[in-house]
Amino acid sequence: MNSETGVRHIPLRRCVACRQAIPKSQLTRFVKTAEQGIQLDRAARQPGRGAYLCSKPECVFKALQKHLLERALKASLSVEAEIELIQRTDPQN
Ligand SMILES: [Zn+2]
Repeated sequence: MNSETGVRHIPLRRCVACRQAIPKSQLTRFVKTAEQGIQLDRAARQPGRGAYLCSKPECVFKALQKHLLERALKASLSVEAEIELIQRTDPQN
């Protein structure tokens, strides 16, 4: 099976909330670290197991509410990552 047939090679990753395959550049990467749990990977190049979240506010909300990143990476969310996510669900921000 080749799902990329006829499509230019754009790296796609799946959002943990909506499960849609979205170009990597439009997703936020979270990475599991040994010391501090799940952290935001702003440059998207930290080594380690990663999970992706798209920019839709409902996805951010769902990920927070249902602990989707924690479940995907089997670690707990760092305070910094949690604050960042909460800020993204706030339309004032
Ligand atoms: Zn999504």
